Amino acid sequence: MASDSAGVVTRFAPSPTGFLHIGGARTALFNWLYARHHGGKYLLRIEDTDRARSTEPAIEAIFDGLGWLGLEGDEAPTFQFARSDRHAAVAHELLEKGAAYRCYLTAEELADRRARAQAERRTFRIDSEWRDADPATWPADAPYVVRIKAPREGETTIDDQVQGSVTVANSELDDFVLLRSDGTPTYMLAVVVDDHDMGVTHVIRGDDHLNNAFRQIVILRAMDWPVPVYAHVPMILGADGAKLSKRHGAVGVDAYRDEMGLLPEAVFNYLLRLGWGHGDREEISREEAIELFDLSGVGRSPSRFDIKKLLNLNGHYIREADDARLAGLVAPLIGSNADKSLLAEAMPQLKLRAKDLHELAEGAAFLFKVRPLSMDEKASALLTDEARGLLEKISARLHSQSDWTVEALEANLKSFAEEQGLGLGKLAQPMRAALTGTTTSPGIFDVLALLGRDEALARLDAQTSSADADPTI
Ligand code: GLU
Repeated sequence: MASDSAGVVTRFAPSPTGFLHIGGARTALFNWLYARHHGGKYLLRIEDTDRARSTEPAIEAIFDGLGWLGLEGDEAPTFQFARSDRHAAVAHELLEKGAAYRCYLTAEELADRRARAQAERRTFRIDSEWRDADPATWPADAPYVVRIKAPREGETTIDDQVQGSVTVANSELDDFVLLRSDGTPTYMLAVVVDDHDMGVTHVIRGDDHLNNAFRQIVILRAMDWPVPVYAHVPMILGADGAKLSKRHGAVGVDAYRDEMGLLPEAVFNYLLRLGWGHGDREEISREEAIELFDLSGVGRSPSRFDIKKLLNLNGHYIREADDARLAGLVAPLIGSNADKSLLAEAMPQLKLRAKDLHELAEGAAFLFKVRPLSMDEKASALLTDEARGLLEKISARLHSQSDWTVEALEANLKSFAEEQGLGLGKLAQPMRAALTGTTTSPGIFDVLALLGRDEALARLDAQTSSADADPTI
């Protein structure tokens, strides 16, 4: 593994849990932006040491989510589990240096000591008699764990780029385990070794790892490795102020794409601004984000996830998005009969109303309905006898129209409305019901034009009073 420490190297190190958590996606984004801003490298590490949870689909879900957001790593990802031997080798190096020791305390002994501390209302600390035992006295065949010799005096300060200066008394740090009794490395060890070997200069991650950083520094110092710059980013909270979890709705990035029908640029922009700000700027492009991002703009207090804001932002990005691209995204949501070129043609109108791709698909559905049209409740209620009578007149008028453009249709129907002494709205309502089976749609002239002359007339005729008399027409 190349360790090029000349420039900035960041990393995103998710544990595969079945999906890419939206909070993880924000961590990835900040790492990606920081590296891009400084012309550095952004790496991925899959922390797959929990063998039960780290399935192939769980790992795929992470790559999938990152790919969707355009946050793939700059190099092939590192898989943590595959590096277990290297982690163990570092533990053995620490043993040889005398910076770690074999601890033969049994689980029962530890439990006893813990219980005693509790009974005496003392904080329990590992105080192993093996810490200073002469290696010559180490039993040859009894099980042991390898523990680090954590410093007991003094204090450790982290100059965190988000949390500020944080100091912990070394007496609070335990002699934590590096290798379990079966020889497997612990998470604490693996992270430090991997970050070092990957040449990581900046560790940007959730502030739930701040406590770990103090332990990780113990290993770094013992190995004489450089301590990276830390930036512990506050958690994302739900609207109620509790840590964002499934209880608040979707937390997997895949659900934002599939169930909620959001565009990646909207999620990107929302996550960017969740905990990071640049004045009052609302929409920030990828390029601008790279230019503007720095850790000094990341706030210290947790941000609340505001789904309404995200949806509004998505509506904005939908209106900005390319019509053919939207047609490609919406067509599969409509079904096999959705014609992408017709969808693209309708898109400038359709996208004015939609906040997500599902709404866009719903709005477009009228284009692909087959006769007889199914009517929703409101649309049926609009089609009174009076309305059907009016539709008959409109139909007659339109049958004699050959120029089927929005402009010509508008001119013709406007003059018809005037002749009838009716407002245009009076005409549009029953027409919309007859043409779309619903009461919301793009402008009525657009609907007529998009459906085309034959289909539009057939739909109108199916709802006129004479059609009612003979439903087979
Ligand atoms: N795998 C850890 C997590 O998913 C992150 C570890 C780290 O960033 O140091 O929370």
